[in-house]
Amino acid sequence: MVNISRLRADTPGCEGQVFLDSAGSSLPPRIVVDTAIDHLRREAEIGGYRAANERLDDLAAVKTAIGTLINADPGSIALSDSASRSWTDFFYSVPLRAGDRILISGADYASNAIAALQRARRSGAVVEAVPSDSSGQLDLDALTAMIDERVKLVSLVHVPTNGGLVNPVAEAARIARRAGALVLLDACQSAGQLPLDVAELGVDALSATGRKWLRGPRGTGFLYVRPDLAATMEPERLDLHSAAWTAPGDYTLAAGAARFEFWECDVAARLGLGAAVRYLLENGPAEVYAAIAERAAYLRKTLAEIPRVTVRDRGTQHAGIVSFTVDGLDPVAIRDRLATESITVTVSHRSSTLLDMTDRALPAVVRASPHAFVSFEDLDRFRHAVAALP
Ligand SMILES: *Cc1c(COP(=O)(O)O)cnc(C)c1O
Repeated sequence: MVNISRLRADTPGCEGQVFLDSAGSSLPPRIVVDTAIDHLRREAEIGGYRAANERLDDLAAVKTAIGTLINADPGSIALSDSASRSWTDFFYSVPLRAGDRILISGADYASNAIAALQRARRSGAVVEAVPSDSSGQLDLDALTAMIDERVKLVSLVHVPTNGGLVNPVAEAARIARRAGALVLLDACQSAGQLPLDVAELGVDALSATGRKWLRGPRGTGFLYVRPDLAATMEPERLDLHSAAWTAPGDYTLAAGAARFEFWECDVAARLGLGAAVRYLLENGPAEVYAAIAERAAYLRKTLAEIPRVTVRDRGTQHAGIVSFTVDGLDPVAIRDRLATESITVTVSHRSSTLLDMTDRALPAVVRASPHAFVSFEDLDRFRHAVAALP
């Protein structure tokens, strides 16, 4: 069990409001805010270079902590400024030719689909979507039927941005890799709220953000690339960190996933991300995940009891996102109304997950995403506010 009073005491933002947007941008614990601000102050005192040099061990420890969280070697992790940056850094470096196929998922995120479409236009490859099964999860039989040697990459989304389902990633990855396709996992909504083990999942690459369930600063993200694969890849863009200028006419790529990183970065944010991941590890990821799932299940059950509410989550295994609509009310109006009562939820629009929302004829859903620091009193206040919507 998590120590909820400690989690709340560590989270200055959670008092006096009901915060249900950890799927968007969570409330960081105090240690994350202090770590980042202290570093900014230090930069102002002695300059960014000397300030960073003082923290070299801590900077290296960021990847060590992420590696511990996802069961990966620190050398297989590249830090970046967002999940989409990491996803595209990998994706644009996969060679594609006319006739190649890229498979995306029915609940794939818009940024991933847009990148796939752009590369398809340029290369003559084609993008196809693996449909969802009747439960809403990725249809493994359909994937098996679609896969062939022309499929170069399968884009899987662990937990979609617009609902609580968990896709069968390990099974899908096995099917894809058996046919020789690369598997790129969007773990943006699972990092920090579900166990992530890259070896067990069997993915070639994985991208995630810092600001959502990991409770890190904005402008942080990371990419994992399987080490033997990274050694064979040449990123689309290079700088003097991802490669070394070794002769007037030559350069050498950096070892490991570092070849996907540029030199310049927001050091304060990066240190904050390290603090966030360590904070999760100290609190016990399994306990935190269980607390999130328990809160989301409670919300799904109690919201469904409200007459005008329809819970929109699909799938057979559920995570911490609770999506719903209320008859006769616009999701944006619901969000704005709840905000006046110090309750934070967000809206997920059709354009973020176009295929899935079009399938279900939904223009938008309200998204409530409780982290472990949210109390059951908060959840009750929220559901009473939803029940009382005019
Ligand atoms: C938020 C989100 C992203 C994008 O993350 P950024 O850090 O904004 O790039 C990608 N995929 C999913 C499923 C998301 O929810």
